[in-house]
Amino acid sequence: MNQKQFILTSESDTATLAQKIAELNPVGSIWLSGDLGAGKTTFTRYFLRALGHTGAVKSPTFTLVEPYLINNKPIYHSDLYRLNDPEELELMGFFEYFDEPNSLVIIEWASRATSILPKPDILIEFKKLDNDDRMAVLTGIELAHA
Ligand code: ADP
Ligand code: MG
Repeated sequence: MNQKQFILTSESDTATLAQKIAELNPVGSIWLSGDLGAGKTTFTRYFLRALGHTGAVKSPTFTLVEPYLINNKPIYHSDLYRLNDPEELELMGFFEYFDEPNSLVIIEWASRATSILPKPDILIEFKKLDNDDRMAVLTGIELAHA
């Protein structure tokens, strides 16, 4: 699978990457991996704004999922860090999100439920570097001029 690596020296680089991905209007699911503080939620904030969301973007750490409807597109931002058992996703109706037309499910900490989740369409692996820059490794889509 084709991969591309980005060095994000500031949040504005993260915003630019989010904008470029948003322009492709992805559907399906995006997994955001990386340690606490790597920049998964920050990326999601810029991404949702780039799609046209104007309100707040809360981290779904405690709620597990925050739903959005942006220009008629259902988007679910989830953080599975606190998921106790992957089977809980079934009870939550999590898999129904994937069945909605044109929907996008963004998942932080998908590693908590890899056994039960469908494979992502896009994977972005974030890493905090020693100098506080972030690295993002993108798999699953081609960005023009990036
Ligand atoms: P995660 O969701 O991966 O736990 P967050 O996005 O909540 O991480 O936190 C990332 C933190 O790192 C934020 O406080 C953000 O301001 C900071 N940060 C510093 N540089 C960057 C960058 N280039 N991209 C994203 N976040 C950055
Ligand atoms: Mg987060």
